[in-house]
Amino acid sequence: MSASDARAMTECSIQLPVRTDLVGLEPYGAPQLQVPVAINVNENPYPVPAPVIEAITTAVREVAGNLNRYPDRDFPELRLALSDYLERESGVRVAPEWIWAANGSNEVMHHLFSAFGGPGHPALSSSPTYSMYPEYARNTLTELLDVPRREDFSVDVVALKQAVDHAHPALLVLASPNNPTGTHLSSADVAEILNFTRTSGPQGSATLVVIDEAYGEFRRDGVPSALELLAAHPHLVVSRTMSKAFAMAGLRLGYLAAHPQIISQLMLVRLPYHLSALTQAAALAALSRADLLQAQVAKMRHTRDRMVQTLRGMGLTVAESDTNFVFFGKFGNRQKVWQDLLDRGVLIRVVGPDGWLRASVGTEEETEAFLSALKEALQ
Ligand SMILES: *Cc1c(COP(=O)(O)O)cnc(C)c1O
Repeated sequence: MSASDARAMTECSIQLPVRTDLVGLEPYGAPQLQVPVAINVNENPYPVPAPVIEAITTAVREVAGNLNRYPDRDFPELRLALSDYLERESGVRVAPEWIWAANGSNEVMHHLFSAFGGPGHPALSSSPTYSMYPEYARNTLTELLDVPRREDFSVDVVALKQAVDHAHPALLVLASPNNPTGTHLSSADVAEILNFTRTSGPQGSATLVVIDEAYGEFRRDGVPSALELLAAHPHLVVSRTMSKAFAMAGLRLGYLAAHPQIISQLMLVRLPYHLSALTQAAALAALSRADLLQAQVAKMRHTRDRMVQTLRGMGLTVAESDTNFVFFGKFGNRQKVWQDLLDRGVLIRVVGPDGWLRASVGTEEETEAFLSALKEALQ
């Protein structure tokens, strides 16, 4: 490539018709650094077990010969498998017609914002929470309002009701268990929220209550899933993903459970054939071996509880965690703690309110390395 070709690739000699609200923005992305212990993005640290690799490879081989055809648009087989999985995981039977899936729960959420948000249909959330919600809102021209959480990261239900009554949002999006705090919403709070949102949306419609359960599988014993409230509340949506518990962030498969009329609306805005035949086949294969992946989850929950205890034993403040990460602090200079850990080969995440840091559950060895690096750093 000549020098002038190279320049032409980075400089643009014409002015692009960039959307005014996107001018100067940077694309999302956690820093990706090569370090011995990377526990910064809440991945499952264990590689995919051999029998799961085997099942996926076989399934992909079987569909490869038919890739000349478009995939099944409505993926009934996958919806049935997800419905069976949810029943095994949470004890709640959700019919396959109540399931929708897309490329990661990010895309599932984007479908919800595209179908129900937009001008005059605001969304409401409660910070600190998942950093992608503002991006779904921005992309779909949806105004996103916020009711900050309390000091202990619980949701302020009274303030939420006031905001809902005032703004009439089409969507109320709450992550539970929440990222980056790790905390869950109590069933009593979810039930109360569902009661005051039946007619609080635009023009007397309901406000859709979207509970993002990306970390649902990591909840502690006795912490219920919002799936239990689905049958009685047709304006409830529960989203899940294979990215975290299933060790399949690379697969891009997220899904939700909701009333079939909500799903009909999502089908209007999805791109045609959005879920590739390869994704469908690989997801089905992984679900057929969910037992193996759930064994990893049990191990990670155990490691998580040990991390929480150890950090508390060190005198740190640690939020209750129902996820595969811990949120801890409070540090006068969290950036320095983060850097001190990085200098010892451990990458965690600076995220959320000032003073706090987030570290994902690693393997036993990674977790040990993190804890001893932190002890050194804090001496
Ligand atoms: C990680 C995460 C997701 C997962 O998104 P995918 O697109 O399924 O990978 C969704 N919601 C929250 C709150 C998360 O932290």
